[in-house]
Parts: sequence; structure tokens; C-alpha cells
Amino acid sequence: MDEPRLVAVVRHKSGRFTRHLVKDEQRFVAPPDAVDVWIAREPSIEELAWEVVNDGVCEAVDGCPVEPDGICPHGAPSWHLVMGII
Ligand SMILES: [Zn+2]
Repeated sequence: MDEPRLVAVVRHKSGRFTRHLVKDEQRFVAPPDAVDVWIAREPSIEELAWEVVNDGVCEAVDGCPVEPDGICPHGAPSWHLVMGII
């Protein structure tokens, strides 16, 4: 098993999402064009696949339930979108 990774998901002004490995949450510096930043434990590919197969309801990076290719009301994308699985 891989260690869970902490990542920062950044929504840029352009609307693009990127993710960045975070070693120290306190020290993460968001890029200058960041509109939103969410820091969370990155799910494994297996977890993401299970969500889709199980009930099709997936988790956004802020924890909200969303469609696999969805964005929650707070603007947070699903992990599938961020990780390029969809
Ligand atoms: Zn949300």
C-alpha cells in the first residue's frame, strides 16, 4: 500500500485545476493566480473506481458529493476531474 498523499488542489483564474504535493500544510504557498485552494488527502485509484461502480456518487476535493465529472456548489471539482480519470 502506498502512503496517503496530501495534495493541494488549486483552481486557477483560467478555470484550470492543478494538484500539488504538500509536505507541510502550514507552508504551502498557493500560486499567484489561484482562486481557490483545497488541501486534502488524495484518494487512491481504487477508491475512486469503487465510488463510480458503487453508486456513481463521488467526492469533491472539499468532501461534497458530486457526479464523477462534477463540480460542487463551492466550486470544488471531483477527484476524478482533478486526477484526469474522467
Ligand atoms: Zn463543496
